Amino acid sequence: MSRLPVTPPCAALIGGEWVTTPQSLSVEAPSSATPLAEIARCQSSQVDAAVDAARQAFDGIRGTWSQWSARQRGEWLYRFAEAIDADAETLSTLECADTGKPMRQAKGDISVCARYFRFYAGGADKLHGETIPFETDYTVMTLREPYGVCGQIIPWNYPAQIFGRCIAAALAAGNTVVLKPAEDACLSVLRLAELAMQCGLPEGVLNVVPGLGSEAGAALSEHSRIDHLSFTGSPATGTLVTQAAAANHVPVTMELGGKSPQILFADADMDTALATVVKAIIQNAGQTCSAGSRLLVESSCYDQVVAALSERFSALLCDAGEADPDCGPLINARQRAKLEDRLAAAKADGIRVAAAGQLAESAPAEGHFVVPQMLVDVPEGHHVSCEELFGPVLAVQRFNDEDDAIRLAHTSDFGLCAGIWTRDGGRQQRLAKRIRSGQVFINDYGAAGGVELPFGGMGRSGHGREKGFEGLKSYTQIKTVAIRHG
Ligand code: NAD
Repeated sequence: MSRLPVTPPCAALIGGEWVTTPQSLSVEAPSSATPLAEIARCQSSQVDAAVDAARQAFDGIRGTWSQWSARQRGEWLYRFAEAIDADAETLSTLECADTGKPMRQAKGDISVCARYFRFYAGGADKLHGETIPFETDYTVMTLREPYGVCGQIIPWNYPAQIFGRCIAAALAAGNTVVLKPAEDACLSVLRLAELAMQCGLPEGVLNVVPGLGSEAGAALSEHSRIDHLSFTGSPATGTLVTQAAAANHVPVTMELGGKSPQILFADADMDTALATVVKAIIQNAGQTCSAGSRLLVESSCYDQVVAALSERFSALLCDAGEADPDCGPLINARQRAKLEDRLAAAKADGIRVAAAGQLAESAPAEGHFVVPQMLVDVPEGHHVSCEELFGPVLAVQRFNDEDDAIRLAHTSDFGLCAGIWTRDGGRQQRLAKRIRSGQVFINDYGAAGGVELPFGGMGRSGHGREKGFEGLKSYTQIKTVAIRHG
């Protein structure tokens, strides 16, 4: 086994206790395909117990989380953020080994995780309802209340960041949580759960049920005693989870990925734009729902842009995450095979790879590496420009004018993020309004973690919003209180 700074518990966190399961799952290091750790394999009985524990913690029988004042909850979140920062070295080493991402990206993710807890610590006591003018002998107000028990199913690409995004907002609003992390990468999540208990979180407020999606994930999504469900992952699984939750009328938030375009005009600051375009597709080896996986280039500068980007792609180095390269491996053999299959199909269709990065000599032969690459002159509607490939592959297309750029941008059904690169102020505003996308960046892309910025999809990218104050509100529901004066 690879060496880890700590061994996260091979158990589920249920009602404040670490509970082992009859079977376990092996987790491998993507950089070397060697075993890294064992995790618990929860079934529906553990999920039931976790939901009961969360229910009791919410309803105040064993714990009283929803009855802590908003200020007290905020203070706990702030203390926890400090604990995450203090443990950053260990957490980022776990995240790097478990996901294969470059070490500096793992460090960035842990720091963003702490920022979520700090941001929502400050938000906990700023959630409020309204008073509403009604009949003269009435006072009417709305109360903004937590849902109760929140189920959360999260993916393997950003375990610590997405833990921060979902848990901090849900707890700040006064909910209790049952979290199903991804079987491919969840060691940082288990460590974070340990730290949360050490920081004095009451038992049952946070429960973690590691296991397979088809077992623990399915049991959580079809559970009749949860009050809200948030899911981040693939559209196909999102459909299953939505259908299961609908059977119990449980409201859902869906974050399902994207095929996000960056639209580059000839008048843009080219150096900044091209550096950002490369970063937006190689970050986490392209396994990012908001990856900038499409580049639409104005015809008049297309050839120059392709030439300049080719130089940048050719210089990229792929290696184990611990070596802190430009690009690490994919998460597992299945994702690699899937991507290679789609690239082979593109090659058979005559799609040209204009440039590709290099695999470092030091890269372990068994690692799940796919070098970053740039596909050019991609025809409109081709699968490499419409499907989420989830790898370090950029599809480049050309457009003639604003209408053409918007038409091309909308050839994918997704609508998560978009980048627009131009110095023309009128064009910036016209396109920002016209593009179907939950986030739009002008002369930037994916700015600095975006903890404060509402995030979520239009179209097939999902619905509901996480992050920012909108993310906090989405873990609450409105109650109307109408008081008739005596
Ligand atoms: P997935 O959707 O299968 O897994 C995401 C989470 O859902 C994991 O925790 C998994 O255990 C759980 N899950 C799986 N099946 C389930 C079920 N039937 N019921 C309830 N929960 C279930 O994603 P994956 O297989 O890990 O990756 C496949 C594709 O998903 C990728 O190629 C990529 O396109 C997409 N993806 C998107 C994101 C994102 O952030 N939008 C993240 C990871 C993966």
